Amino acid sequence: MADVVLSNVDKSYGALEVIGGLNLSIEDGSFTVFVGPSGCGKSTLLRMIAGLEPISGGEVQIGGRRVNEAEPIERGVAMVFQNYALYPHMSVEQNIGFSLRMAGLNRSQIATRVAAAAASLQLEPLMKRKPAELSGGQRQRVAIGRAIVRNPEVFLFDEPLSNLDAELRVSMRVEIAKLHRQLGSTMIYVTHDQTEAMTLADKIVVMRAGKIEQEGTPEALYEDPVNMFVAGFIGSPR
Ligand code: ADP
Ligand code: MG
Repeated sequence: MADVVLSNVDKSYGALEVIGGLNLSIEDGSFTVFVGPSGCGKSTLLRMIAGLEPISGGEVQIGGRRVNEAEPIERGVAMVFQNYALYPHMSVEQNIGFSLRMAGLNRSQIATRVAAAAASLQLEPLMKRKPAELSGGQRQRVAIGRAIVRNPEVFLFDEPLSNLDAELRVSMRVEIAKLHRQLGSTMIYVTHDQTEAMTLADKIVVMRAGKIEQEGTPEALYEDPVNMFVAGFIGSPR
C-alpha cells in the first residue's frame, strides 16, 4: 500500500513561502499529473515527496509512513528529472545497474533486474553504449531504466520529456503509459504539456502559487474548470 498523503504541507525558503497548507491524497497505483505556471512549486513538492527537501510544516506520508529527509533513498521512491544526469564514463548497462551495486546486490541479481528494466524500455541493443553515443530520447529511456530497476512503489517524474522533440515526446509518453500499466506503481508527474496531462492522468492537479487551484479527472477539469486559470491549463471546451 503506497498511498501518498500530503497533510497541511508548508514550505518556505527563508521568507519566501513556496507551498502553503497543501492537502492532497494520491491513491496507490494511480497516475497523478501536476500542472501550473513556472515557479508555482511543482518541483519543490516532488522533492519533498522524494524526501530530498526538508518540509517546513505538515507532513508527507507514503504507505502510512512519514517521509523523513534523513532516511535513506530505499523508501521505494524513484525520481526522474528533466536533465537526465547519466554517468558519462559508464555504459547503459552500468548506468542502470549502478544503484543496485551501491545497495550491495550481487552480480546475478543485478544482471536479472537490469535485463528486465532494459526489456521493458527496449534498451537491449544499446546496453554497451556510453551516454555520448545515445540520442536524447535514448538517454531519457536510460534515466527511466535507472528508476525502474529499483522497483519503486512511487515514481516521481519532473518534466521528463520537455527536452525532447515533439515526435519523441509522443512515443515516450506512450512508453510511460505502458510502464504504468505494466508496473502498477504510483506515478506522480509534472508537465507543461496539456496532451501529456490529459492522456496520462487519472487525476490532474492544477497548482497556482503553492496552492491547489483544482484537482480532478481530466474529463472533470475539461468539462467543469472552476475558473479561467484552470481552463487555460487544461484547454477549455470549444
Ligand atoms: P516549479 O517547479 O513549479 O517551476 P519550483 O518548485 O522550482 O517551481 O520553485 C518554486 C519557488 O521556489 C520559486 O519561486 C523558486 O524560485 C523557489 N525556489 C526553488 N528552489 C529554491 C531554493 N533551493 N532556494 C530558494 N528558493 C527556491
Ligand atoms: Mg520545476
